[in-house]
Amino acid sequence: VLAAATSTALILTGCGSDSGNDGGSGDGAEGKIGVILPDTKSSVRWEAADRPALQQAFEDAGVEYEIQNAEGNADTMATIADGMIADGVTVLAIVNLDSDSGAAIQEKAAQQGVRTIDYDRLTLGGSADYYVSFDNTRVGELQGEGLAQCLGDEEANLIFLNGSPTDNNATLFSEGAHSVLDAVDTYTNVGEQAVPDWDNEQAVTIFEQLYTQADGEVDGVYAANDGLAGSVVSILEKNGRAGEVPVTGQDATVEGLQRILAGDQCMTVYKSAKLEAGALAETAIALVNGDDAETNGTTEDADGGREVPSILLDPQSITADNVKDVVDDGGVSADDLCQGD
Ligand code: BGC
Repeated sequence: VLAAATSTALILTGCGSDSGNDGGSGDGAEGKIGVILPDTKSSVRWEAADRPALQQAFEDAGVEYEIQNAEGNADTMATIADGMIADGVTVLAIVNLDSDSGAAIQEKAAQQGVRTIDYDRLTLGGSADYYVSFDNTRVGELQGEGLAQCLGDEEANLIFLNGSPTDNNATLFSEGAHSVLDAVDTYTNVGEQAVPDWDNEQAVTIFEQLYTQADGEVDGVYAANDGLAGSVVSILEKNGRAGEVPVTGQDATVEGLQRILAGDQCMTVYKSAKLEAGALAETAIALVNGDDAETNGTTEDADGGREVPSILLDPQSITADNVKDVVDDGGVSADDLCQGD
């Protein structure tokens, strides 16, 4: 079933072509913006999509900026934050590695008069002035709906492979997915586990265990992002079941999209880095200028007992039928998509 759309989808992506950039006008804000990305391993998105989109957004706006990556180490993130503040950064955006370390960075920044923004992940108990992200519960619902669509309403045993327990987003993704999948009477949850730090290697081991515990009687897998989906598919392949068991994903990575086109992954969720980075740049520039930023809601931080002013964007579900949307939007290049697997 999954493989049927493959050839059409490949043709639709139009291998060999690429889309250009749009230009921009500078508004020359004073001050400097620092962004700290979390790691390079939990998802390729941070370096492949977010960094270039952030660079583009800041350059279009003509504002000074610095982007660094904490390489998965909370101490490194704290050191980078100190360095950026010493360097004259007046607005600091972080993608936290866990809420405690993120909150400590934000508290220290605030003491030095530096405004802070949570980028993508909410820091529970933190003090960020704004939160810029996607509607993450909606991401989980789209994953749940996608899996249900691939499975139909027949009896099915499901395994849930959640993201990092220290990532508030992972909680929201899982809640969203459960809200959809738990409501289908014919589905049975036969195993569920969170993957520390979204580590793809650990995910292989964890999923293999869950699969074995279920005696291989697994009909569908909720995997929280494309990296975890890759781990799942490797074990399904080992058991000769890749392409037979639908698997969800997220981030519309090149590998995730290639698996969708090959019929090994049921869906992914596209969260445009251009949109998210653009929203971060606007928010940060408002703060640099001492203005309020435009928001479209608030997000509850139950730990901190506060509502964080938020900009929450709309995620998009991607299946074999609309992989082309990601290419058209510049999320991945057709060249990358068409290269080896
Ligand atoms: C992000 C996902 C990403 C995951 C692992 C989450 O907080 O929202 O897009 O796949 O972290 O980096």
